[in-house]
Amino acid sequence: MRPVFDGHNDALIADDHDRLASGRSGGHVDLPRMRAGGVRAAIFAVFTPPPTDGQRLPPRPERLTDVPLADPIDPRYAAQFATRAAGRLAALERAGAVTIARRLADLDAVHDDPELPPAAILHLEGAEAIDPELEALELWYAAGLRSLGPVWSRPTAFGHGVPFRAPSSPDTGPGLTEAGKRLVARCAQLGILVDLSHLNEAGFWDVAQLGARPLVASHTAAHTLAPASRNLTDRQLDAVRDSGGLVGIVYAVGFLRADFEPDRDTPVELIARHAAYVAERIGPEHVGLGSDFDGALIPDELGDIAGVPRLLDALAAVGFSDRELDAIAWDNWRRVLGDWWRS
Ligand SMILES: [Zn+2]
Repeated sequence: MRPVFDGHNDALIADDHDRLASGRSGGHVDLPRMRAGGVRAAIFAVFTPPPTDGQRLPPRPERLTDVPLADPIDPRYAAQFATRAAGRLAALERAGAVTIARRLADLDAVHDDPELPPAAILHLEGAEAIDPELEALELWYAAGLRSLGPVWSRPTAFGHGVPFRAPSSPDTGPGLTEAGKRLVARCAQLGILVDLSHLNEAGFWDVAQLGARPLVASHTAAHTLAPASRNLTDRQLDAVRDSGGLVGIVYAVGFLRADFEPDRDTPVELIARHAAYVAERIGPEHVGLGSDFDGALIPDELGDIAGVPRLLDALAAVGFSDRELDAIAWDNWRRVLGDWWRS
């Protein structure tokens, strides 16, 4: 079975996250299904949803045209929520269920030995939990943080996330703040990948101008095929190529479909078509996978993380060679993480 690297999931904040190791009845990701799908490494996002006073998370609106602007959240609340969610991953590692990948050797080990527990990359999706002085960043790094998105789709001390809009250009407002620029520079020094997904276009170019590279967007799609604010324009794709970077193709139907309909009956082939478009434009060495499992509506035909081999079949069907599939499924992610981590 071909080892797969998945660039984004939200499983750590699922309601039944306590069943990640043993298996959940619903959702998209747990460790038994990860194994069944051949997914040997995945980026586990720590995302802080809006406070709900202890209630269940509200269902996310799925049609991009209907999503209201997200309010900023209290950084103290974010710090508490995010440290708890990250603690869940640390507990899984302590139990021997995953290895938190801190260096390339951790990825290579799980790639080469299917008997090892999978690798999990700790990712912070929106940096509200980090103070603008970046003191907490040091602690997160020590805990294994190796990937960070300065913003989710809402304003923070670090920048302005791109609101969910469709159809819309990603050019929706100002980019990084001065604190955001310091955050990106410090991540580059420490060896934490800076993820461009959820930044607006100004923020994207701010990161590019800082020379922080390679440019990586972990879970997004092609704006030319589906003109949503969260997707990358051809000009942005070209910049990703020029930096040696990567686009993780998202499986969220709302970003893939040109009509943005939240329709579960969307063919897996549409994910492959976005991958083919990006590969045609900037080369297959800049394409990866970035599901958004447990964070979005995905095609029923794919189902969950155990269904990933069906996506690999769809990628082969649109013309990717075996070698290109190896690159898309694993090698490209390994390359860009190595460039950021430098070890
Ligand atoms: Zn996201």
